[in-house]
Formats: sequence, structure tokens, C-alpha cells
Amino acid sequence: MNDFDTIVVGAGLAGLACSRELWRSGRRTLLLEAADRVGGRVATDTVAGFRIDRGFQVLNDAYPEARRQLDLAALRPGRFEPGAVVAEGRRLRRVADPWRQPLAAVASLLQGTVGLRDAVRAARLRHDAIAAFRGGRLDPDQPATDAERTTAEELTARGFSPGFIQTFFLPFFGGVFLERRLDTAAAVFLFDFAMFALGRATLPTGGMAAIPAQLAAALPADAVRTSCPVKRVAPGLVELADGDQLSATEVVVATDAGGAARLLPPEYRGPWTSRRTKGTVLVAFAADRSPLDSPTLVVNAAAEGPIDNLTVPSDVAPGYAAGGGAVICVSLRPEWAAADRRAEVGDAIRRQAADWFGAAPQTWRPLTTIDVPHALPDESPAARRMRPPGPRLAAGLVLCGDHATSGSINGALASGRRAAEAVLAAG
Ligand SMILES: Cc1cc2nc3c(=O)[nH]c(=O)nc-3n(C[C@H](O)[C@H](O)[C@H](O)COP(=O)(O)OP(=O)(O)OC[C@H]3O[C@@H](n4cnc5c(N)ncnc54)[C@H](O)[C@@H]3O)c2cc1C
Repeated sequence: MNDFDTIVVGAGLAGLACSRELWRSGRRTLLLEAADRVGGRVATDTVAGFRIDRGFQVLNDAYPEARRQLDLAALRPGRFEPGAVVAEGRRLRRVADPWRQPLAAVASLLQGTVGLRDAVRAARLRHDAIAAFRGGRLDPDQPATDAERTTAEELTARGFSPGFIQTFFLPFFGGVFLERRLDTAAAVFLFDFAMFALGRATLPTGGMAAIPAQLAAALPADAVRTSCPVKRVAPGLVELADGDQLSATEVVVATDAGGAARLLPPEYRGPWTSRRTKGTVLVAFAADRSPLDSPTLVVNAAAEGPIDNLTVPSDVAPGYAAGGGAVICVSLRPEWAAADRRAEVGDAIRRQAADWFGAAPQTWRPLTTIDVPHALPDESPAARRMRPPGPRLAAGLVLCGDHATSGSINGALASGRRAAEAVLAAG
């Protein structure tokens, strides 16, 4: 007799979603997590009373899996304004979504932020992306085809001007994809574009960690073991780092790709386990008040200065600064992310922010710097073609995680659900 029906290794969103689905279907499931908390890459720290996510990320409220699996209202989300503020040198200009903020969009046109040709092409892109999503033809979690092209190729093929690509798509989607070449697959870009067009970027009042906390709350207390690293797995078998062995009818590996490569026996490792990852560094400051007059994202279109993008999470969801004041988060441009530049980065950020906001940034107080070296899997067309064909690796062995679908909250939740379905389908 096995110890459990299923053992899931890794309590990120994928592992949590999988475990919850299995418990709902009456399977005795144990979730094992190496860290001292659940959530994986979705984490929030509290520093000097401010909530700071481990790397800037948002929950899009149009994500189909989030709508399916999460109680979005219970997260009490605050919403970003659609569009973004684009910084170029000392100028800040708003790029608005004409369907939600028609007046602001007209202003963008009149100021020359967006040319008429690019505005027409953006309208077509919006229409095509939404139509493909609604028609079920746009799902980046499905297997990639040989015909996939990169985001840069897609934008060029659609006739966008190099200037608009450089000043809007590159800083905005470069920040989403954590890469500056826009070599992420167009399928991922079009899906994200549809999500931004149909929904809003949100932050839960309790910080991003409220998302895994909500999933974990649906599990029985003894169904999760944290601080419990797994050393290796085999079909139906899990060996813990302390040497204990546990058996189960099914073992689900819900780690990141690198974790799966370390755990799986060589014969079950696929090319996906060698995929590159992309990183980011977040620098957080406390301030007496926000430098912005609306809950918005500021992206840096100039190829200079340390700031890649800047947000004030407490403008979006007041829970980020429940004790008052504002918390300001800056994602660093890649050239500034190297560890040997850390000493100069705080002053450099304040100097660049002073170009945009005047004297106030000189009073910002450094809170913390958070390094996330493995934030997202590489999602170039070539990398996506290396993904595993489906969740089942062998009888008694199943795989999930965002590296198996797409590098997002939506992708992780979807892969967890699909892994649970594969377990249930086996009887
Ligand atoms: C900085 C950053 C920004 C992002 N921005 C966004 C965004 O704006 N919108 C969006 O939708 N997505 C974003 N994402 C992506 C999203 O957060 C991830 O795709 C998702 O959280 C991945 O979940 P996962 O469960 O697949 O993997 P993980 O969260 O990596 O979970 C894997 C878990 O397995 C555990 N584990 C590993 N090895 C072992 C072992 N040997 N034994 C036991 N446990 C083990 C790990 O500790 C971890 O908890 C961002 C991610 C980061 C980091």
C-alpha cells in the first residue's frame, strides 16, 4: 500500500493548483516544498511596514486560468491604469488605450507620442489578438509550431514604425518578458496583448503572496510540508533530502525546469530541463508621498540610466503601505543589474527619477534590493519547441510548472490543472 495517492513536489502556483484539484477529487495528496513557505516565485516580503513583492509582477484579471481557479474578488485587487507613462530623457508621456481612455489617447496622438499609422496598426493588432483569443486560436500553453515567430518579427510584419517599437513595445513588453530583444514568441506577446486589452493589471491588497495563500488555504493543514527538500524522484517514489522515502501511485514534479533536471532520473529528463532563464533586480524605496498622480506604470524608453520601469504599488493597492507613505519599486535595466554596481545604484536611481519628478526623489529612503536571477523561462520560439509534449512522463510520473506551458501566473495555474487532470485520467 502506498503512503499517498499522489505526492506533488514544489509548492509554487503549479504545485498548489495541482494539489487543490486533486484534493477536490478526493485524492490523498501530499505537497512537499523545499522553502519555508509556499508560493515559489510569487512572494511578498514586509520591510519596515511596507509590502514588497520579490520582483515586480502583476496579476492580469483577464487571465482565463485566474478566473477559473482564483477568487479574484477575495484578493481585493487594486488596478493599474491601462497603458503606461513612457519616459524619454526628461519627458514623461502617456500612451493610453483608446478604447478605455479615449480622451487620453487623442492627447497621445496630438502630442505626437503615437503617430496615426502606428495608432491604426495598434487598433488592428488589438482586434486580431482579441478575436484570436476569443476564437480559441490563441493559447500560449499549447504546443509550439515550427511557424512561430518572435515578437520583434511580428511587430515588423505588422508594419509598426521602428520608432514606436523602440519607444513603446520595447520598454513595455521588454519589462513583461524580462528581455530586451523582443525574441519572446509572438504567441506569448499576442496573448499578453489580448489580456492587457481585455483586463487590467492588478495587485492584491495583501501583496502578490496572497495568490498562493488563497490556493493553500483550500488544502488540509497536514497536506503541505514546507522546509522539506526532495532529493530525487522516480515513478511512484520520492526520496527526501533527509533520506526518508515516500511512495505514491503518482508523483508530480512541480518545480522549475532546473529543479526538475536535478530531481528526475536521466531517462525522464527532456531538452526542456536545459532551458535558459531570465532574471531581474528590484530596488525598493520608501517615500512620504507618491511621485505619480495615478496608479500607473512608468517605463524608460531611453537606453540610459538604471531604471527599466518604476511603479508605486501603494498607489494601486493601499495595503502595500498600510502604515502610510508610499513604496516605490524600480526594476533595473540589465546593464545595472550586475552585483558590482549595487553601491552606486540607489543614487543613480534617485538622480534619474529627479529628471522626471523634480527634487522629491532625493528624499526617498532605500528599503531593500531583491535579486531574482531565475524569474522566467526563456520563451523564444526555439525554447518553446523544446517544451515537454504533455504532463505525463511515465506511469506514476507527471510534470508541471510554467516551463511546461508559459512563463506566467496563467501558465503555471494551467499546467497545475492539466497535471491533475492527467493524474485523474489514469484512474
Ligand atoms: C520577477 C518576476 C516577475 C514576474 N512577472 C509576472 C507577471 O507580471 N505576470 C505573470 O503572470 N507572471 C509573472 N511572473 C511569472 C510567474 O510568477 C511564474 O510563472 C509562476 O509563479 C511560476 O510558478 P511555478 O509553480 O511554475 O514555479 P515556481 O514558482 O518556481 O515553484 C516551484 C517550487 O518548487 C520548489 N522546489 C524546487 N526544487 C524543489 C525540491 N528539490 N524539493 C522541494 N521543492 C522544490 C521551489 O522552492 C518552488 O517553491 C513573474 C515571475 C517573476 C519571478
